Amino acid sequence: LEEQLRQSQKMEAIGTLAGGIAHDFNNILTVIAGYASLIQINGEESEAAGMAGEILLSVERAAEMTRSLLAFSRKQEVHLETVDLNRLVAELQKSLSRLISEDIELVVRIAGEELCCIADRGQLEQVLINLAVNARDAMPGGGILDIRTDTAELEGEDLPDGRYALITVSDNGTGMAKEVQERVFEPFFTTKEVGKGTGLGLSSCYGIIKKHNGALCMQSEPGAGTSFRIYLPLSGERPCRQREECEERLSAGS
Ligand code: ADP
Repeated sequence: LEEQLRQSQKMEAIGTLAGGIAHDFNNILTVIAGYASLIQINGEESEAAGMAGEILLSVERAAEMTRSLLAFSRKQEVHLETVDLNRLVAELQKSLSRLISEDIELVVRIAGEELCCIADRGQLEQVLINLAVNARDAMPGGGILDIRTDTAELEGEDLPDGRYALITVSDNGTGMAKEVQERVFEPFFTTKEVGKGTGLGLSSCYGIIKKHNGALCMQSEPGAGTSFRIYLPLSGERPCRQREECEERLSAGS
């Protein structure tokens, strides 16, 4: 428990720092992009205009990084709606199979019951995409990417006791050594080559799920594979109550 507390305090501190930097950095990027566009427009076909175009491309890449950092540090706006997680996963299946290579088999298993959460759909999709890309990278020789939805009863964990929606994303790839496991959720931690990984994927996933009052947990075994579990509070009560109210009104009218 102490270890968990230490870890979450560390993530909190990194989050505050990262959020501050990302915010200021974004303002600077806006200025750079503004002047580069001016050079591009005024320079017409010149060499300088071409270089300004290159600057704009780099600015876009840097902006993508600050977006991930902001997602991690909770400074990003959320657009909440009722999201059916079963549907979200089913609808994402096609995009995910396009992301992974042919020698990886994507297995999707959907829970029998409805799993509704109040969430930002786009951000949850981002989490699943990040996890799938990492799983792909961990299975260079092929393998199985298994995504399933379920419910889970939590008691005495980090989260308040109760029933949660659970999405599990597992691969049978390389797995991670203990030193890597300890650092995966830190921003900018990556074991990938320069240019291949930013080290922001999992830290932004962690921030997004935390912001949804959920939890993101990881289990990994070197040589055997890795499994990420996403717990999200179920909002099942709301639609149920609404349905009851509707039924009451209907029977009162008849
Ligand atoms: P990036 O993918 O840019 O490196 P992430 O934050 O998404 O950044 O991941 C950090 C590191 O965690 C990766 O570089 C990799 O070493 C490790 N990792 C993440 N997911 C997996 C996985 N499914 N299997 C093995 N290692 C993983």
